[in-house]
Amino acid sequence: MPENTLSAARTDPGKLNLIGLAGRDLEDFFGSLDERPYRARQLLGWLYQRDVLDFRRMTDISLRLRERLELIASLALPDVIREERSVDGTRKWLIDVGAGQAVESVFIPEPGRSTLCISSQAGCAMDCSFCATGKQGFNRNLTAAEILGQVLIARRALGADTPLTNIVFMGMGEPLANYRNVIPVVKLLIDDCAFGLSRRRVTISTAGLVPQIRRLSEDCNVALAVSLHAPHDSLRDELVPINRRHPIAELLEACWQYADCLASRQVTFEYAMLRDVNDDVSHARALGHLLRGRPAKVNLIPFNAFPGTRYECSSSAKIDEFCNALRAAGVFATIRKTRGDDIAAACGQLAGQVKDRTLSRLGAKLTRVTN
Ligand code: SAH
Repeated sequence: MPENTLSAARTDPGKLNLIGLAGRDLEDFFGSLDERPYRARQLLGWLYQRDVLDFRRMTDISLRLRERLELIASLALPDVIREERSVDGTRKWLIDVGAGQAVESVFIPEPGRSTLCISSQAGCAMDCSFCATGKQGFNRNLTAAEILGQVLIARRALGADTPLTNIVFMGMGEPLANYRNVIPVVKLLIDDCAFGLSRRRVTISTAGLVPQIRRLSEDCNVALAVSLHAPHDSLRDELVPINRRHPIAELLEACWQYADCLASRQVTFEYAMLRDVNDDVSHARALGHLLRGRPAKVNLIPFNAFPGTRYECSSSAKIDEFCNALRAAGVFATIRKTRGDDIAAACGQLAGQVKDRTLSRLGAKLTRVTN
């Protein structure tokens, strides 16, 4: 088992937290106890299908092994600091990840589906100019246990009558900058022995880390959403600074390659509607030109304001006009319904509690967190 997985998941001193350990890592753990690999599948069933987080209740595992597990391993979830509920049914949890840091996850009920939006980092180093998380700076990557813990916490709070049907990595942080810990979580979400969700119902959203998009298609091709927000490099450089390293043409090339490996074959492009910044019909036409004839759909996100932002949301007439111009250009486009903004749970409003510990703006930050 790689050293980093072990140390990342260790919460109790001296005990290994098994939450979030996937595949070979979990089998190797049982191997280190001279146990057969099928023990891993048994444990996954108890943890993620039956929601049992107590070794003593895992009755198809021998008593001797259960006693051993209790001595050397733990099944620890992060603590919930508080929960808020929106008038529209959206729920948000503030989750303690230690040392004064807290992240947020959001449950969004819709007819026919229940989505949980989870965080992958405390803060974010991408520094997108219109995002509340980015404005706080970056503290650290979450461990796999802290990421998956958000799913288990929500599931317990929601109860068996409200099963989660979709998981989106659209909370705080850049999931592909925490690749090492996000991948085991994604694998557990789509593993039939664990959560068993379809690949199409697990979405990774990225600001555009091209090398990791390429790697992702080899590791697990779940649904991909890309935060595009501008059809030209000059504007995207300003809104999504990672564009200076991986410009639009390179990003789109990686997306089309990724789409080739996807069952659904479509990449979603997110586009926050910013008044007088990126919302002109000429932007829609340029976007149409980039995406026409490609396996792409566009999700227009009305900008969600937060304290201190200099941006405003485009008018709904302007958003409709933009959407129609995209459709006229032959691109499939939808407008995202804003949910939970009364509890600051809408896209880009998640702030949690983050102590910035980055030294400078973009350059230094990106080198330090991209792995
Ligand atoms: N780091 C990932 C996940 C970010 S949050 C990414 O960049 O994709 C998910 C989406 O919300 C992204 O498309 C992000 O650009 C968008 N977003 C961020 N701030 C927003 C805001 N204030 N209003 C609307 N959308 C926003």
